[in-house]
Amino acid sequence: MGKPTGFLEINRELPSDASPLERIKHWREFHEHLAEDKLRAQGARCMDCGIPFCHVGRILAGAASGCPINNLIPEWNDLVYRGLWKEALERLLKTNNFPEFTGRVCPAPCEGSCTVGMHLPPVTIKQIECEIIDRAFSEGWVTPQPPKKRTSKNVAVIGSGPAGLAAAAQLNKAGHNVTVFERADRPGGLLMYGIPNMKLDKQEVVLRRIQLMEQEGVTFLLNTEVGRNYPVQELFEDFHAIVLATGASVPRDLTIEGRDLKGIHFAMDFLTANTQHLFDAQVPFINADGKDVVVIGGGDTGTDCVGTSLRHGCKSVTQLEILPQPPLERAADNPWPQWPKVYKLDYGQEEAKAVQGADPRQYLVTANKFLGNGNVTGIEIVQVEWTKTGPKPIPGTEKTIPAQLVLLAMGFLGPEVGLLKALNIQQDERANIKAEYGKFATSLRGVFAAGDCRRGQSLVVWAINEGRACAREVDRYLMGNTDLP
Ligand SMILES: Cc1cc2nc3c(=O)[nH]c(=O)nc-3n(C[C@H](O)[C@H](O)[C@H](O)COP(=O)(O)OP(=O)(O)OC[C@H]3O[C@@H](n4cnc5c(N)ncnc54)[C@H](O)[C@@H]3O)c2cc1C
Ligand code: SF4
Repeated sequence: MGKPTGFLEINRELPSDASPLERIKHWREFHEHLAEDKLRAQGARCMDCGIPFCHVGRILAGAASGCPINNLIPEWNDLVYRGLWKEALERLLKTNNFPEFTGRVCPAPCEGSCTVGMHLPPVTIKQIECEIIDRAFSEGWVTPQPPKKRTSKNVAVIGSGPAGLAAAAQLNKAGHNVTVFERADRPGGLLMYGIPNMKLDKQEVVLRRIQLMEQEGVTFLLNTEVGRNYPVQELFEDFHAIVLATGASVPRDLTIEGRDLKGIHFAMDFLTANTQHLFDAQVPFINADGKDVVVIGGGDTGTDCVGTSLRHGCKSVTQLEILPQPPLERAADNPWPQWPKVYKLDYGQEEAKAVQGADPRQYLVTANKFLGNGNVTGIEIVQVEWTKTGPKPIPGTEKTIPAQLVLLAMGFLGPEVGLLKALNIQQDERANIKAEYGKFATSLRGVFAAGDCRRGQSLVVWAINEGRACAREVDRYLMGNTDLP
């Protein structure tokens, strides 16, 4: 429970990040660690509230409230406070296969529903999670844990994002022979080619985990796209069960005048090529150096485009958002313990502000047309107002902004259909793979679905939740019952 009076005596403290102007000179992670005594003091702020909402993972008002994987947060806060790091690690690994991912990239809905947060800044839950696992790796406490016994069941997991990885890790733990198919040249899904290196280090964090999984007995087949260079039929012949974890990678387009001009790209093409280039300087990438960059879309993917463009040395970066600016404090209709929809400067905007003097986001604005002759040179934008039927342009507010590089980061429409058609599998009304949450069984016997391909583009922590829960159902299907948590 931490220290009974800790939350009254100790203020919330996070380590200071590398300064924005320094960190845009490189691609390394920029979050620092807290000294041990300070971190233990942060654990002491956990107040032993009667009902901890931080670990419930419920959907309230359309967003997660509390930890979606039900991390045993009050327990490990207390253990950290008492300096019992190994015990804290044990508790953490009971619910989370990959705390080194969530400890870095999770938006921490847990903190939005922390009881201390009703009146004071919440407990630094995400930081504590990250410190437990980072310490465990540096102390050598994280070692391969292959299963003691193998079943004779073969399971194929299609896709190596966090959902596929979590499913694979759990099914391997249950003793099944797991093969992960990945069409990309490196494993990790959006952990590898999506989230940029400065948020999540590819070599030291993502590939370290993959290596551990290989040592535990999971097989990874890279450059192998099921339905293209690995026939679907073979899948059914070789495996007793199949988990689809293929993500939701179809991007939303903006088909306005001038869309075919050169210099307009989907965000993922920009981000993927950039990470590939970091691994191998021979790989071409879309360079923002010296350009006026306009990112269309104010979400996390857009933020990653802003941070990446600044590291290239762009001339300017602007981010267009069609929604209004969120309030500085929780609105009356967004009470605790809901996810707080409040204005925040994420890392990319913080960096842009340091370089350009202001948040790069323009709110309540949309693009009317792309301008240029062969190459894009600018965008005509217009202010909008929200009506019952959606955003409506305000006549007379049109203006032109310069842009030699435009990045479309307006969300994703669902999974790619190629494999789904080859399988002849049912999709739901949102084009995702049809499979009930909790059961994960698709319209095909022995085929399950988890993560973004089932729920739509979401979060790493939800992908882990689905991968774990899906593994349980696959194990039950194969063995008649399951001991998987
Ligand atoms: C740019 C960006 C930044 C993000 N940042 C964050 C963040 O900071 N925090 C957060 O919590 N979430 C973030 N997200 C969301 C998060 O990354 C996803 O919700 C999560 O990765 C989904 O996991 P998944 O395993 O379902 O799918 P994915 O991670 O998309 O993985 C699917 C994998 O399946 C592979 N695949 C597809 N079809 C086939 C096939 N036929 N054969 C073989 N392989 C195939 C793909 O190549 C891919 O590797 C971000 C998303 C994007 C796009
Ligand atoms: S996984 Fe996310 S929600 Fe869960 S404890 Fe960690 S930061 Fe909080």
